[in-house]
Amino acid sequence: MSAVDVVVVGSGPNGLAAAVTLAAAGLSVTVVEGAESLGGGCRTEALTLPGFLHDVCSTAHPMLVTSPFFRQPAFEGLRAALRQPEIPFAHPLDGGHAAAAFASVDATAASLGVDGRTYRRLMAPLVESAVSIGDAVLAPLRSLPRHPISLARFGLPGLLPVSRLVDRFDTEGAKALLGGVAAHSMARLTAPLTAALGLFLTLTAHAAGWPVVECGSSGITEALVAEVERLGGTVSTGRWVRSLSDLPQATAVVLDTSPAGLATIAGAALPGQYGRSLGKFRYGPGVCKVDWALSGPVPWSAEVCRRAGTLHLGGTYAEVASAEADVNAGRHPDRPYCIVVQAGVADPTRAPVGHATLWGYCHVPSGSTVDMSAAIEAQIERFAPGFSDLVEARSVRTAAQAEQYNPNYVGGDIAGGASTLRQTVFRPTVRWNPYRTPLDGVYLCSASTPPGAGVHGMCGVYAARTVLHDRFGGPSPFTG
Ligand SMILES: Cc1cc2nc3c(=O)[nH]c(=O)nc-3n(C[C@H](O)[C@H](O)[C@H](O)COP(=O)(O)OP(=O)(O)OC[C@H]3O[C@@H](n4cnc5c(N)ncnc54)[C@H](O)[C@@H]3O)c2cc1C
Repeated sequence: MSAVDVVVVGSGPNGLAAAVTLAAAGLSVTVVEGAESLGGGCRTEALTLPGFLHDVCSTAHPMLVTSPFFRQPAFEGLRAALRQPEIPFAHPLDGGHAAAAFASVDATAASLGVDGRTYRRLMAPLVESAVSIGDAVLAPLRSLPRHPISLARFGLPGLLPVSRLVDRFDTEGAKALLGGVAAHSMARLTAPLTAALGLFLTLTAHAAGWPVVECGSSGITEALVAEVERLGGTVSTGRWVRSLSDLPQATAVVLDTSPAGLATIAGAALPGQYGRSLGKFRYGPGVCKVDWALSGPVPWSAEVCRRAGTLHLGGTYAEVASAEADVNAGRHPDRPYCIVVQAGVADPTRAPVGHATLWGYCHVPSGSTVDMSAAIEAQIERFAPGFSDLVEARSVRTAAQAEQYNPNYVGGDIAGGASTLRQTVFRPTVRWNPYRTPLDGVYLCSASTPPGAGVHGMCGVYAARTVLHDRFGGPSPFTG
C-alpha cells in the first residue's frame, strides 16, 4: 500500500463526503471499506426476490436536498435522479383517517381543521427561512448564526420536548402528525429537543420534499464514488480496519466509524481521558427492520397514505409516546411506533410492474435480538387491512443483526448515538472541535459527530476541513 495524504476508513456518506472534500483540495485520498460493497447507509440490494430493489438503510432524503455539500455542481446528476412522492409523510389513525404533511404549508393547514391556523403560524415562518435554518442545523453550531432571528424562531420551540409542542394543538391528527415525525429521534417524546427534529423534518417536507433516488439510494454512493475517483482518489472494499497499523502511511486518517470503532482502531495509543469519555458516549435504542416484496401497493384505508412516501404508524400521539417510552425503558412495545417507507409511490423501478417493495422498522431496546416483524405487520394491517395477503417475501434484520451488518450501528442504533441535548452539540465528547482526536493525525467523521444522523455528508465535510486546517494550512474549519 503506497503512501497517501489521507486515508478515509469507511465509505458511508460521511466518509465519502470527507474524501470528496479532501480530494477537491488537491490531496491524494484513498477510502478503505470493510464490507464487500461501498456506501454504508446508502446501499440498495435484492434482499427478497429477483426484480425487487430494496434500500438496506436510508431511502427518504430530505437531508440530502437540504445539505450544502450536495448542492455542489458535481451532484447535479444525482439531484436530477431524485423522485418526489406527492406527499412527503402521513400518519394514519384508526377509522380510516389520516393526517398528512403535504408539500405546501397551506394544504397541510387546510387539512388540519381547527388546528390549521396554529399549524400555519408555526410552520410558515420556518419554511420562509428554510435555507438559513437548514444551513444552521447541518452545521456543528460552532460559529455565530448568520440569520439569528430565523434560527431563534426555529430554536426556541425546538428546545422543547415535542410533548409540549403538541399541547398547542386540539386535534388528534395534528398532535399525531408532529409527534410521529419527532419520534424519528428514538428518544422519549418528553425529552428536550425532540420538537427540534420534528420541526426540522416537517420544514424539509414543505421546503424540499422527502425524495427517493430513482433505482435506490445506492445511486448516492455511486455519485460520491464517481466524484472521489474523478478527483484522483481511490476506493477499496473488503478490508476491515482493526488497527492503525492496518493502514497505508498517511498524513491523516479520517474514521467514518462509531466512537467504539475509533477506540478499537486507536487501541492503547488513545490517551486515557479521551478513551474514557468515548466509553461514556451514549448509544440510542436499536431498530428491527423488515423489507417486503409485495404483490401490489399497500391498501391503506386512508387515501392520502397511498400517495405518501413515508408513513408513521402507531396511532394517536399518546400511543406513539407510550411505545417510545417503553423502548427507552428497555421494553419491546406490543404495538410499536413504526416508520414505513414506500419508495414505489415515486419510483416504479423498485419492483416488477404491478408489484411493490416496502420497508418498515420499529425501535427496540439496544442490542435486541427480537424479530418484531409480526408486531410491525400487525400495525400495517391495522391501517391497511389486507396487507398481509400481499406479502410475497420478507427479509428481517434485528437490532443485533444490524450491528453485525454495519459496526457503526452499535446495538442497532442507526443514528450514531442517542440524541440527547448534550450529544446534539457535543458528540462524541465535549470538545470544541469534535472531529479532531487527541491522537496526532487521527480524525472522526461519522454520524457520531455533529450534525449527526442522516444522509447529508456534513460530518464528513467538517472533519475534512479540520484536516485541511490542521495538516495542510487550510482556513479555520468553522468559517465560510
Ligand atoms: C434502516 C435505516 C434507515 C435509515 N433511513 C434513513 C433515511 O431514510 N434518510 C436518512 O437521511 N438517513 C437514514 N438513515 C441514517 C443514515 O443512513 C445514516 O445516518 C448515515 O448513513 C450515516 O453515514 P456515515 O457515513 O456516518 O456512516 P455509515 O453510513 O454507517 O457508513 C459507515 C461505513 O464505514 C464502514 N466501517 C465501519 N467501521 C469500519 C472499519 N473498522 N473498517 C472498515 N470499514 C468500516 C461501514 O462498513 C460502513 O460502510 C437510515 C439508517 C438505517 C440503518
